[in-house]
Amino acid sequence: MSDKIVTRFAPSPTGFLHIGGARTALFNWAYARAKGGKFLLRIEDTDRARSTTEAIDAIMAGMKWLGLEADEAPVYQSKRQARHVEVATKLLQSGHAYRSYAPDQELEKVRAEARAAGVAPRYPGRHEPLTMAKRGEYVVRFKSPIEGETVIHDEVQGDVVIKNDQLDDLVLLRSDGTPTYMLAVVVDDHDMGITHVIRGDDHLTNCARQIQIYKALGWDLPVFAHIPLIHGADGAKLSKRHGALGAEQYKALGYLPEGLQNYLARLGWSHGDEEIITTEQLIEWFDLDAINKAPARFDIQKLDHVNGHYIREADDDRLIADLKELISSGEMTHEFSYDVRKIEFDRFKDALPFLKERAKTLIELLEVASYLFVSLPIPMEDKAAKSIKDAPALDILKGLADELASLPSFEKETLETSLKGFAEKRELKFGKVAQPLRAVLTGTPNSPGIYDVLVSLGQEETLRRIRDVL
Ligand code: GLU
Repeated sequence: MSDKIVTRFAPSPTGFLHIGGARTALFNWAYARAKGGKFLLRIEDTDRARSTTEAIDAIMAGMKWLGLEADEAPVYQSKRQARHVEVATKLLQSGHAYRSYAPDQELEKVRAEARAAGVAPRYPGRHEPLTMAKRGEYVVRFKSPIEGETVIHDEVQGDVVIKNDQLDDLVLLRSDGTPTYMLAVVVDDHDMGITHVIRGDDHLTNCARQIQIYKALGWDLPVFAHIPLIHGADGAKLSKRHGALGAEQYKALGYLPEGLQNYLARLGWSHGDEEIITTEQLIEWFDLDAINKAPARFDIQKLDHVNGHYIREADDDRLIADLKELISSGEMTHEFSYDVRKIEFDRFKDALPFLKERAKTLIELLEVASYLFVSLPIPMEDKAAKSIKDAPALDILKGLADELASLPSFEKETLETSLKGFAEKRELKFGKVAQPLRAVLTGTPNSPGIYDVLVSLGQEETLRRIRDVL
């Protein structure tokens, strides 16, 4: 056996790539990259009724967007059915499995009782069919050990001991001959040469069952690392309300892939107190021993904070390309205060250096840029409207229009000297001048810096906006 590390992400394609799945994919990807190994993708589509091609596409698109592409073409579990049956047959032959016949009245009775008691039904037979009448349909069941215990040596959870009498004889092949997840996952991980299984800790009990199957087959066990599930900021299990959206939806909300990737990396794994962790650093630092044992909490404000960092760092041309793509995707659900399809991107780009200081997502970036593209009359927030209502404010604006019209150029330094001189001449605090000016130019009391606003609008448009309210 080669000692090269091979990890995998094994989603069931019954929905989009939700945040928990994306984190599992990221950890597997990062571990493979960190150790110079391979990262594989297996689509667990054995549940034909619930698996859809839309879900497969969404999962792959989400992974691609997050930069988590697999090193080989995906393995489709449904295509490996013959191999699963072959292994089940081997288990039958070696006496580790048996045919369990149905329908079976006793089994039905047990199921009904369990349902009435509100617990998961357990197969009561141990190592032999409940019914002795060996005819009709049957499933193939695994002879789960009755005595003793199964120990999972988990890289995150430590040794987890599960008593064997807690595990019933699970089905390996259904009566229609199709394999169950429990069989398929073991066979596929083995055949794909998976050395490390990193997944959510909701699979811990399954893992004990899988270990029993590995042992019955005489196969080497992979290393297991079960990561605690993600909770909401309030400690409850993550739900849609907490932001349990698909990766694609985060894209539509204006997050950058590197922002989401960085945030997800920190969700249950850490490297000291580092908040900002680039892909390169993640690959350098990622290891299983720094995965947290306690459930991580999803905190949208932290995601915003991290994403804001990447917006500020991003190259301007790339941001413009992202904005164009986002707008034309038609996937944004945010209601904008102006028509974003009318944006002139050259002007946007000139203003980007100061705009991006004020935005944590691409949506916020479009919003802080709104003053550039609104048409007259400028829509006014209440507080802004108030600041230009009285006669002294209008008088200041009149004076400002004359002052600004007289300037030979509209550069930052010229504007600074001019506005400061204007305030001094009138014996006004600078705020008294800047406030109404900001209001007429942007319609809001908290815009970017006033000089940046003036430069980005230019002399003509600035004067047009001031004169419009006089
Ligand atoms: N297909 C399983 C799921 O989506 C994961 C199986 C595994 O990682 O072993 O939960």
